[in-house]
Amino acid sequence: MEFSEYKTGTAAVWAGEENAAGAVAQPVNNSVAFAYTDLDEWYDVATGKSEGYIYSRNTNPTVAVLEEKIRVMEGAEAATSFATGMGAISNTLFTFLKPGKKVVSVKDTYGGTSKLFLDFLPGMNVEVKLHDTTDHEALEAEVAKGCDLLYLETPTNPTLKIIDIKRLAAAAKKVGAITVVDNTFATPINQNPLTLGVDLVIHSATKFLCGHSDAMGGLLAGKKELVQKVFQYREITGASLQANPAYMIARGMKTLELRIERQNASAMKIAHYLKAHPKVSNVFYPGLETHPGHETAKQQMRGFGGILSFSLKGDYELVKKFLPSLKLVHLAASLGSVSTLAGPPRTTSHVELTEGQRALLGIPESLIRYSVGIENVDDLLHDLDQALAAL
Ligand SMILES: *Cc1c(COP(=O)(O)O)cnc(C)c1O
Repeated sequence: MEFSEYKTGTAAVWAGEENAAGAVAQPVNNSVAFAYTDLDEWYDVATGKSEGYIYSRNTNPTVAVLEEKIRVMEGAEAATSFATGMGAISNTLFTFLKPGKKVVSVKDTYGGTSKLFLDFLPGMNVEVKLHDTTDHEALEAEVAKGCDLLYLETPTNPTLKIIDIKRLAAAAKKVGAITVVDNTFATPINQNPLTLGVDLVIHSATKFLCGHSDAMGGLLAGKKELVQKVFQYREITGASLQANPAYMIARGMKTLELRIERQNASAMKIAHYLKAHPKVSNVFYPGLETHPGHETAKQQMRGFGGILSFSLKGDYELVKKFLPSLKLVHLAASLGSVSTLAGPPRTTSHVELTEGQRALLGIPESLIRYSVGIENVDDLLHDLDQALAAL
């Protein structure tokens, strides 16, 4: 059955779920290899002439359920998967960026992605040009000089900057470059980059898609010809997703729309609450009308997401007092979970930078990233209120 005619939340429940036994919950197929009685049939599957499974580093029936879900939810021709989000990002970049090629991206990419741009890719003689994340003119001008790949992430981590996807994907198309967007923060419920002219979309499925902080995975969806190339590279690098985490991520995705609707609404309330609080100096959330990317976010997103960041009127010593006094929060590195998670970027995503480098990126030392869970928002507001009052 083709589930692309349905809304994303419906596809999250139904896509990829058909199976011969009629199981209403997917079986987890942990088999490493798949046996044949007919050598000709085995040969045809092994050479791609007919459909089937051979070896789970390449394809696996449980993993295929998850891949089909993200394919339909992102409106893609094809999808594939990886052991982690960084597996998806590194395999995609290394597939298309060979010595002599050029990639254009922004300064605010996820920490691990920045490391690829600053360290690993230049070491392979790939030309890397990073521009200020919201300087669309500079990014367009750089792309117009010619490039092979444009890599974007929006909203960004941790200051929730917004990039106009349609505008930059159009610039890349003019010079024949592939555009890739990391859609982890938005999820396919809030944003579908492929409908905005992008070629490939990436997710760290570890975050919102899984949603329970108990499985890791990465996903890639987009043009069939491009996904196929990355899949062939991953078959050999071996960054493959296993059946058990694939099952858990697919299970989590069934409630994705419910969770995201709640997290969108709660984050908006919390952002307004913090903005009005006398002890808070700055709130970064694209749903606030004062956010510089608000208009663009309104055009390309259906919701503003469950993550916000804010800074206190005070230095890092105040953050050290404030964060441990919150009761309904795990002080931990991840995001996008059913429980609220928070931490200072100086300890989490941007720990490898100096204070000066963080200042250049507009990340104050007293910044706090707050990933809203699915708790009742009144309890979260009360929790923030008591912790702020105690300062
Ligand atoms: C977490 C994250 C990644 C990396 O994902 P892993 O599953 O931890 O490898 C990439 N991009 C963004 C935006 C993330 O938040």
